[in-house]
Amino acid sequence: MKIVVIGTGYVGLVSGTCFSEMGNKVICVDNNIEKIENLKNGILPIFEPGLEPLVLKNVERGTLKFTTNLEAALSDSEIVFIAVGTPMGDDGSADLQYVLNVAQSIGKLMQKRLIIVDKSTVPVGTADKVKATIQKELDKRGVAIEFDMISNPEFLKEGAAINDFMKPDRVVIGAENEKALEKMKQLYAPFCMSYERIIAMDIRSAEMTKYAANAMLATKISFMNEIANICEKVGADANQVRIGIGSDNRIGYGFIYPGCGYGGSCFPKDVKALKKIAEDYNYNAKLITSVEEVNDAQKLVIAQKIVKKYGADLTGKVFAIWGLAFKPGTDDMREAPAIYIINELVKRGAKIQAYDPKAMEEAKMCYLKGVENVDYVTYKYDALKNADAMLLLTEWKEFRSPDFEEIKKQLKSPVIFDGRNQYNIFNLEEKGFEYYQIGRAER
Ligand code: NAD
Repeated sequence: MKIVVIGTGYVGLVSGTCFSEMGNKVICVDNNIEKIENLKNGILPIFEPGLEPLVLKNVERGTLKFTTNLEAALSDSEIVFIAVGTPMGDDGSADLQYVLNVAQSIGKLMQKRLIIVDKSTVPVGTADKVKATIQKELDKRGVAIEFDMISNPEFLKEGAAINDFMKPDRVVIGAENEKALEKMKQLYAPFCMSYERIIAMDIRSAEMTKYAANAMLATKISFMNEIANICEKVGADANQVRIGIGSDNRIGYGFIYPGCGYGGSCFPKDVKALKKIAEDYNYNAKLITSVEEVNDAQKLVIAQKIVKKYGADLTGKVFAIWGLAFKPGTDDMREAPAIYIINELVKRGAKIQAYDPKAMEEAKMCYLKGVENVDYVTYKYDALKNADAMLLLTEWKEFRSPDFEEIKKQLKSPVIFDGRNQYNIFNLEEKGFEYYQIGRAER
């Protein structure tokens, strides 16, 4: 099939590349000229495991192309995916300006019948707005071109995006007519082995499914973090409680790890957007509101433990931070707990020595730009040199089984704050560490 994907971020680039890998002819369009020039030269704008070789391979065999020229791309396609960002707007709702700009461009430029697929995460009713925007442009041009509207929310996880796209748990397709739905099913059949994983529904339900899924996952995280905070008060161990409750298959083990809160480009903004959607329809989403409040507080739990130990004034203290990205496997720092923790510690006078395998450029150039007293090192043990304590904030594999003797040797004093409960199996107290984790009071 001939496909155009508009937006070459995490979702657009991965989707376009995976479609091309299955033999479809894909043109990826972005309005960021530098991004497209780089992609044409084999330089990717993001880090995602396994993506680069797939891009290079498909570019070489001619199934994947990059352009800023939407008009030319549309003229040679049957299906158009909208995969641009829907960031958080000032009032917490999803900002639809990029999606609607794209819709306007499509309406201005399309010359033949197309299937328009919204892959961006958008509030319920957006497909109607996209449709109306395209139709308005067609009317202005005085042309009668039919098009089909589809909602096909994306569920990939950064860090495992290729695998998620190639072998999805499900593909949700919201459609309003059988013919377009059938075409979408054919497009996704190679990824799904059978049609069972393709879940067809109406467009509004498809739009809602994405928010409901992310809100459910965020709820599990906040629920477990709340339990962890109670565990600390009552002298229980959240790690053991997690195993205890996860064994019930109605609950399950997934997504119930206590930690320093969720971040990333999706959960925070999607939870907020869902709350706003409900508000717009005069519904007070109390649970969703609490999920967000618990998470906002959880991002600072590690900083609070530090203040409890060292006092409110951290002048002269040095903290080593392992992990900046919001989760392992990505360079994405959007809403990462590390941003909040570092800002809090620096505000109190501390100095930070940070290391992350992939996200340091993002931190330096964007998310911690201008934050003073943050040094970045290229070797993880260097971050520990003369530091008062080490903080583990992202559970990258290379941090999971470190050389604790080396950690002890480098630190000024053997203190670890583990924001991801990665080291609780190593009996760190016996190794001479003062060890703080989430959901178990210090002993
Ligand atoms: P992103 O910010 O990484 O990428 C968006 C891209 O769109 C950018 O390259 C930008 O230059 C481009 N763009 C913006 N306006 C454009 C225009 N008019 N024409 C052409 N290109 C344009 O975004 P992302 O993380 O890939 O997310 C895209 C959507 O998918 C969002 O709605 C997001 O919520 C959703 N989503 C993201 C993930 C994820 O893990 N990142 C997972 C599932 C769903």
